Formats: sequence, structure tokens, C-alpha cells
Amino acid sequence: MSKTVNEKINIAKNIAKSHYLNQATSTALVLRDQLQITGLLPPAVETFDLQKKRALIQLRAKSTELEKYIFLAWLRNTNVRLFYRLLIEDLEEITPLIYTPTVGTACQEYSHIYPFLAPPGVHDGLFLSLNDLPNLKNIIKNYNPYPFDESLTPQIAVITDGSRILGLGDLGVNGMGIPVGKLQLYVAGAGIDPRRTLPITLDLGTNNEHNLKDQFYLGLRRKRGSDKEFFSFLDAVVKTLREVYPELLIQFEDFSSEHAFELLKKYRDNTFCFNDDIQGTGAVILSGFINAVRLTAKDIPPKEHRILFFGAGSAAVGVAKQLLEFFQIEHGMTEADAKKLLWLVDTKGLVTFDRGDKLADHKVYFARKDNEGQQFKSLTEVIDYVRPTALIGFSSQGGIFTEEILKKLARLNKNPIIFPLSNPKNNAECTFEQAMKATNNQVIFASGTMFPTYTEPETGRVRYPGQGNNMYIFPGLGLGALLAKPRIITDKQIYKSASALAYSLTDEEISLDMLYPKLTRIRRVSAEVASAVIVQIVEEGLARDEEVIALVKNDLEVLKANKGPQWEGLVRFVEENMWDYGREKYFDSKI
Ligand code: NAD
Repeated sequence: MSKTVNEKINIAKNIAKSHYLNQATSTALVLRDQLQITGLLPPAVETFDLQKKRALIQLRAKSTELEKYIFLAWLRNTNVRLFYRLLIEDLEEITPLIYTPTVGTACQEYSHIYPFLAPPGVHDGLFLSLNDLPNLKNIIKNYNPYPFDESLTPQIAVITDGSRILGLGDLGVNGMGIPVGKLQLYVAGAGIDPRRTLPITLDLGTNNEHNLKDQFYLGLRRKRGSDKEFFSFLDAVVKTLREVYPELLIQFEDFSSEHAFELLKKYRDNTFCFNDDIQGTGAVILSGFINAVRLTAKDIPPKEHRILFFGAGSAAVGVAKQLLEFFQIEHGMTEADAKKLLWLVDTKGLVTFDRGDKLADHKVYFARKDNEGQQFKSLTEVIDYVRPTALIGFSSQGGIFTEEILKKLARLNKNPIIFPLSNPKNNAECTFEQAMKATNNQVIFASGTMFPTYTEPETGRVRYPGQGNNMYIFPGLGLGALLAKPRIITDKQIYKSASALAYSLTDEEISLDMLYPKLTRIRRVSAEVASAVIVQIVEEGLARDEEVIALVKNDLEVLKANKGPQWEGLVRFVEENMWDYGREKYFDSKI
């Protein structure tokens, strides 16, 4: 249908103004005339390919990762499509620069680099401080990354209060790098439309003395207040967000553990939300564990695994809960028996009922009662007592899985499962190389941050470390939920996302003993994760999207097997609903 004159004028205005629509140096000459920007750009008209080539050369010429982070932020905030083309096509190179590990440094430096991340008028995310309480609704509406189309309202918000950023502690508003980065991964991983993402950082003060003394710190200069203040502010924010955007999916991120569990408990049954640190991590590590169990099956029957968590915070408890589901659903164990396969260690040692300190709520459920009054403090003591088949690190204590510890595990098991999952890299409990060397190449390994491959000196065989990267789960989980439109995210949906990821490996990946698929296949993997989530939502009777219900309902039993033509059809439907940078389809050479 041809456009009316008014529509054409509007498009022209938008293209000139929008960091989303603008084509910069590839704007056609005829369009430049119509936009009255001839002379404001250099004369050459470039292809999109050449723009990308230049951007990559400039990026690679930067000498530090933080400079690369700043460069990429500027690119995103001036030319959205070019940025996402880089991110999507060069995912393995760019992801570490926009998220872990670089985002850790970027958050620590956030108040120093903030003015250099975006041009005036472009805003990276929404800051909501305690002072904004009386006016939350209007302030939420202020954030509008794409004012040209009213139908493109936010679909996903990632919210943090900056109180536990990665393994770096309380960074206050400097934590904004996390929701901003995470939403970029939603776009790259599952094709969420970048115009429909809403990064939010809440400012309830910070207990970080360094920040409070820093003249450039950009948050409120006060300490964090009481739990009562925290929860009533959160209530107001969640309530107002739901009023303004009733269909919004809220993802809680990097809250301190106690608050994270409490928030999830409070909202999971009445709000369209999930917590990636707890549930997303739970799912991605469960998925790697499912494949590790498969690899060790001939030596250890699944029900005989003994799993030791070093670190007992949000991530460890989230994973432990998912493992419980796994042993119950796949191996018919009772909850009580499954729980006996898991041990947790925190700063005070093995978590037991009679240790003598008051356990945080989230640890009580897993506290051991069968220790017969004995307490175990050091990791070595705990390992000697538990004799684990799997050691999972979530402690942010870099290098704590020493050669001695790793060798101990190798003596106990033919193929020890060792997952040092803390981030960033220098917080990892051990490296892939250390684990390979200490176990005579027998380790089954996954880490939080990506380690290089390892070549066995004796055979020349290249070994691939697994990366328990939450990016394998949350984009697909989010997309599946947005398409099927349940009102809540259930444990079963999360569980299905994990099993779909585990079964998404190709024959080649299986032959290389990989625990996770190649990250370069992320869009296909996300489509499979999303499809499994959709099937589960329909099965639970929670789906509200008629098209999705019609597509899935009649083939439910077949679709649950994740294969066959029906499954491929559903995966294709999901892929067709992914946003892409495909700039050409939005731009005529003239209007
Ligand atoms: P958290 O602060 O909630 O928990 C940390 C836990 O480690 C606490 O239980 C603490 O008691 C324990 N701990 C600290 N020092 C210890 C010591 N010396 N000995 C024993 N226990 C000790 O943090 P979290 O959200 O659970 O995250 C933990 C780590 O896991 C972080 O580094 C985070 O980046 C990483 N993480 C990785 C992934 C992933 O790889 N997919 C996902 C989430 C979190």
C-alpha cells in the first residue's frame, strides 16, 4: 500500500532523528535530499557491509577492553542496527566486551565513563531512585527508546538494585551496566526487539564506601536503608510497571541473595517475572549437568551422584533446586532422597542444622541433618567427608580449587565433574587448564567465564571447556514466554528450558564431548528453548496467545519429544518471530 504524504513526512523526520532508523554514511543520495541532510554527511554512500568492516577495525584497534566497551556503547546509541549486526555476526568476539567479563570493569567505572556512552538525548536505561516514589508512573513513561511507534511498548524489563553485581558486591547505580548488557543479550540471543527492552536500575543508596567517597559517583549519597524500605519501594515499582505495561516480563537481576529469594517468593505466583541469578542459572547448570550425567553414566548411576556446592548463595541454591527437580522427574526419586545427594558449603563450612549459627532462610532447606554432630570447616575436610562426584563453585573465590583439591577429586572419580562457575574470570575457582592438568585430562568441566580450549600434549586432541552461560537460557525462556503469554513463569517452564538446552546438542557437539552447544548457534538454540517453554505453557493451560495455542494444542504429545516435523514447525514459527537487524527491509532508497 502506498504511503500518504503525511506518513512520508513522518518517516523522514524519524529517520533523521532516530538512532534506530538512521543509516549514517549509507543513506542514499536521493534520501539525503529528501531529509535535507545533503552536505551534512561526507559525499560517499557506503554499503552496510563496509560500515561494519570499518567499525570492526576501529573496535579492534582499541587497546583496552573498557575502551572497547565504551566504543560499542557509543555505536549502539548512535546506530542500533550496525551495533546489533556486529554483535550477532561476531558474537564470540563481542559478547565478552558488552557483558562478562568486561561489564564488571565497566560497572566499577560506570560513573566515570557514563557521559561517554551515549550522545545527548539517547538514554541507556531508566534510573528509579527512592526520591522518585511520588512520581513513579510519569518517570517510567519518560523512558521511550522508540517514540515513533506507539505499539512498540517495552516487553522485557531487567531490574537490578546494584546490591550484588556479579561477584563484585554492592556497586549502587553503577550496576546499570548489567540490565543494559543483559538486554543486549536478549536481542542477540533470541531476537527480542531492542526497541522493546527496558533496563532499570533502582537507587536505594549503596553501602560501598569507595563509591560514596568518589566525587564522580552518580547515585544517591546515602547508605542502604531497612528491609522494610526496600520491599515497599520494590512493591511500588513492580505495581507501577504493571499498571503502565500490563504485559511486561520482569527479570530480577543481581539483587543481594536474601532480597533475591524474598522477591521471587513474593512475586512469582502473581507477577509475570523470573530471577535469572536463581532460576536462569539453575536451568543452565542443570542442562550442563544432564549432559555430564550422560557422559559419566557407564561409571556412576545417576542416583549415586554426590554433588558438593562450594558457595551457598542465590546461584548455588537456584541450581540445587533445579537438580532436585531433575532427580525427581527423570529418575523417579522422592524429594527427600534427591536432597540427600546435595551438600552446600558457605564461609563457615558445611551447611548443617546444628552448626550453631542462624542459617539464612534460603540455606535452611538444604542444611544437612545426617552429620551426627560433626562439623567440617575447610573444603578439604568437606571433600574427605562427602567424597563428591561433582564439585560446583559459586563462591567468587578465585583459585580456591587448588591443584590439591582437583587431584583429590580425580582420585575419587574416573571423570570428576568440576564446575568453577564464579565470574568474572579472576574469581573462577580454577581454570580449565588447571583442571585438565590436575585430573590427567579426565575432568568434565564447565565454567562461568569462557576459558580457552586445551590441547592434550600427549595426543594433540583439542578439548572444549563448557561455559555455563545463562545466555543459553534466559533469551529463549523470555521469548517463549512472550509468545505464549502466560501470566506467570512456573518451575516447570524453567525446567523445560534446561532440558531443551541439554537436548539441543548436534551430533558433532556430542562427539566432541561438549556439555553446551556452540555459542554461535545461539539463535537456533534459543528457538528450541523457547519452543519447549511454549509447549509447557500450553500444557499447563496458561497460554493466552490464540495463534500459539492453535499451533501447539493438537500436537502436544508429539511436541514434548522435541523432535519431528511438528517440532521443526514450531521452532520455525519462533524463529520467524525474532527481530533481526535486517536493515534493508526498513529502508527504501527514497520515500
Ligand atoms: P552470592 O553472593 O549470593 O553467594 C556467594 C556464596 O559464596 C555465599 O553463600 C558465601 O557464603 C559463599 N562464599 C564466599 N566466600 C566463601 C569462602 N571463602 N568459602 C566458602 N564459601 C564462600 O552470589 P551468587 O549470586 O550466588 O553468585 C556467586 C558467583 O557465581 C558469582 O561469582 C557469580 O558471578 C557467579 N555466577 C555464575 C553464573 C554462571 O556461570 N552461569 C550464574 C550466576 C552466578
